[in-house]
This record gives sequence, C-alpha cells and structure tokens, in this order.
Amino acid sequence: MDLKLFNTLSRSVQEFAPLDPAGKKVGMYCCGPTVYDFAHIGNWRTFVFADLVRRTLEFSGYDVRHVMNITDIEDKIIKRVRENKTTLREFTGKFETAFLDDLKALNCKEPHVQPRATEYIAEIIALIEKLIARGIAYQAGDGSVYFSIEKYRGCGCNYGQLLKLNFDEMRAGERVSSDEYEKESVADFALWKTRVPDDGDIFWPSPFGEGRPGWHIECSAMSMKVLGESFDLHLGGEDLKFPHHEDEIAQSEGATGKPFVKYWLHGAHLLVEGKKMSKSLGNFFTLRDLQAKGFTGREVRYLLLTAHYRETFNFTLDGLAGAKTALARIKECLEKLVEFLEPNSPRITVDPDIEIINRFKAAIEDDLNVSKCWGVVFEWIRDLNRSMSQKNFSSNQAIIAIATWKTLDLVLGLDFEVKAPARVRDNTTEMRGVVPATGFAAKIEGEEEIPKEIQKLAMDRIQAKNAKNFQYADILREQIRSKGWVIEDSPKGIKLKKL
Ligand code: AMP
Ligand code: ZN
Repeated sequence: MDLKLFNTLSRSVQEFAPLDPAGKKVGMYCCGPTVYDFAHIGNWRTFVFADLVRRTLEFSGYDVRHVMNITDIEDKIIKRVRENKTTLREFTGKFETAFLDDLKALNCKEPHVQPRATEYIAEIIALIEKLIARGIAYQAGDGSVYFSIEKYRGCGCNYGQLLKLNFDEMRAGERVSSDEYEKESVADFALWKTRVPDDGDIFWPSPFGEGRPGWHIECSAMSMKVLGESFDLHLGGEDLKFPHHEDEIAQSEGATGKPFVKYWLHGAHLLVEGKKMSKSLGNFFTLRDLQAKGFTGREVRYLLLTAHYRETFNFTLDGLAGAKTALARIKECLEKLVEFLEPNSPRITVDPDIEIINRFKAAIEDDLNVSKCWGVVFEWIRDLNRSMSQKNFSSNQAIIAIATWKTLDLVLGLDFEVKAPARVRDNTTEMRGVVPATGFAAKIEGEEEIPKEIQKLAMDRIQAKNAKNFQYADILREQIRSKGWVIEDSPKGIKLKKL
C-alpha cells in the first residue's frame, strides 16, 4: 500500500502504516462541530477534507473506523442556551440535526461513531481522576481542576509536539478557564470547570464538585474510549493544532504514558473573497445560504475538493459558478455514455480502465494531490468525448467508461446517478451497479430490486477484494447477510439474492 500523508507531528510527508499489526484496520478521529450554530463554509472545508481522507484510506484498501464527535457542551453553547432561554438538549439537538443534514447534502460518508460529549461524562471524570492521581492535574481554590503544564513537562513529557513553543516567552504557569483562550499563552488549562451561576442547570456531579468538562478533555476521553489509547489518525482544521490538539496530546499521554496518535492531519483554512469570514463583512456563508442562492451540495463539495488541503483556499461565488460548469461537463459525458449502452448486450464482465485508475490512485495517494486527480479526470473526459464523436465507439467501451467513473467516484463522492435508458432498466440482464475493480469482476446483478444500502455494501466489498483486503470483504459479506441478502461470486461478477 502506497499512501503518503503529511504528518504535522513529524512536519513531513510520511508513508502511511497503520498501528494494526495486520496492516488493515485504521482508527480515525476528526474533531466534530460545536453545535451552537449552523456550520459555515470554512467548517465544511475541514469536514469534506476528513471525508476525502476516509474515502482515500478505503480506496487504498484499509478498513476504516471513522469517529467524529459532537461537541455539545462548551462555553459558547452555554451562553446561547442562556440567551435563548432553552434547554441544552433542545438547543444543541437542532444544530446537530442541521449539521447531519448538511453532511449528507455534501455527500460526506456518515462517520461510524458520533459520540456526544454529554454522553461521555463518566469517561471524562475517570480521565481527570487519572491525571490527578499522576500528579499532573490539581484542583485550584476556585474549585476547578486544571492541567499543570509544568508537572507534565517535569515528567519528561513534551508539550509542544505539534507546534514548537518557546516557553520562556510564554506565560506558562498561568491559568485559563475559558475554552477560547489566547493562543500565545501556554497556561494551565481547565479540565473540569466548577459550577457558576451563569451555567444555570447545566452541570454534572463529580468527585471534584458540581461542574462541567473543558473542551479539550472531551476529545481525549471520547477518542480513547472509542478507538483505544493509541490510534492512527486525528484530524481537524489548522486552528486546532494549538491549544486544542496539543492539550489533547498532553492529557492523553499524561494519563496513559503511551503515544496518543500516530498521524496528525490538519486542513488549512478557507477565506471568502480573500478575507476571514465574518458576519459584519457580509462574507459569511453557511451551506444553507449557498443553497438559497441556487447552488447544490455537490457543487460546493466539488469546489472544496479542487484545492489541496494544506493550502489556504479562497472561496468565491464566481468559483462556485465555475464548479457548476465543470460538473456539467462530467454529467454530460456520463449521459452520453449511457446512450451508447445497448439494451440487449450480453452479460459481460467489466473492469474499469486500469490505466486511468492507476494514474488517479497514484495522485490521490500522494498526500491527496487533488489537482492531479482532476487533471486525470478531465483529460479522460476530453478523450472520451473525442472517442464518442467517432463512429465505432461501442456499448462495451461505454460500460468500461462507466465502471471507471464509478471507481473514481468512490473517492470523489460526486454521486451522479448514471441512469440507464428505461429499456435497459427493464431488462433482467441489466447491469445494476458497475463498480470498481482493479482486477476483480465488477458487476452486480439481482433478481429483484436491490436496496441502495445493499448495493453500496456490495460495492465496498468489491473494492476491499480489489485491494486484497479479504478480512474486510468478509465482514461486509456478513453485514450484507445480516440485512437479509447473500452474495454469490462468479467469474462474471457478483450476484445478490434475497435470503
Ligand atoms: P468548530 O465547530 O468551531 O469546533 O469547528 C469545526 C471545524 O472547522 C474545526 O476543525 C475547525 O478547525 C474548522 N474550521 C473553523 N473555521 C474554519 C475555516 N475558516 N476554514 C477551514 N476550517 C475551519
Ligand atoms: Zn477535538
């Protein structure tokens, strides 16, 4: 496996090698949204980046467990709950639902686990107790519990793994209770915030008194509970490197004595028309704002995926209009291909165009070089358009091209519906979902309408087999069976039957 990614920890592009001795399972945690408002287009850049990382890992044959938390307790949330005279769950529930709807509109794969901070209070308390027992955390006179950076460093641990920090110039040893403290200060940060009148009824009992967790400890507790004390990948926007991620490392490694995360990936920020987004400048967009202007989630996704994740991206409405044009080119080509499909063509086994797939794979595995990937896609489309304008373009060539697109789209996630003409759809020999395959037959058939969910699992299984990830392929077979379908492999492709 040839995937390379830039690791903020080593400040270099590294070969990706998971912690799993079998080299298959990958644990990936992405810091999720703070649900106090609708997510903005900058947030979406980071979440679409996380989706691209997950899809690329799967494309490379890994069995990914993708975790994205929901930060549903934090300073800003409490303030808004108070201002809106509502309850915590009612307030955060509304924005959590909106977030998940938008995630779908952008065609991001749903994370396997989405832990809410408020449901992990016991784990958070246990982690704080461990840090107190190790002498790295202490309860201050105000009742709050703080992490001591000095004690942590005194144990030989390194605070400042993601960013080099100059402790002499920084105000180490001071205390901050806010989740949003100044980035220039290295101060002891709050793990548990003692209850104050402004918190209203938002508090939990704990051995350190009534209160609530700090933001940083929430992510340490949730990620380690779901993925284990050491896991492979941790993602977020670049603003989270310090203090949020640095503090996550300190809390986790301080408590377990083990390395917390192997690869830290950070996405650069998004600007709008060259400026930091702000409501007062009128350049602040949520996905809903853009949808109201007539753009689709697919167009926004495409635009966000045109820039390399480590480069600052300048979002403009003109750029979004350009995305519409680019997508129309792809769609038009796919529609033309469908017209070449013959209704009564014999059942044949199709492999996608291996050369195109390999060029695309090399580009995406090179630290997610999306510019190169789009280069491959649009060059291929230009060549296809040229070939289709010539007389001898065959149904078989169209089938191969559609299979190629479906394979590339496993990573791109544009999810165009490739509609076969009705007469083809009525035909029982129809190709229901031509999918990936670098080597393995890619054809799904079934006697009756196959639910989308089952088709998707079957496609993932083909992909896993192509990547020789047989263990994961077996898991998927079992998942399909548990949903009432069986898969039969044959040299011609796969067949799905109802149990
Ligand atoms: P939040 O909901 O504020 O916790 O942010 C969710 C994610 O969005 C975090 O990973 C942030 O780093 C990221 N983020 C915030 N602003 C931007 C931006 N302008 N561009 C890219 N990512 C951002
Ligand atoms: Zn986090």
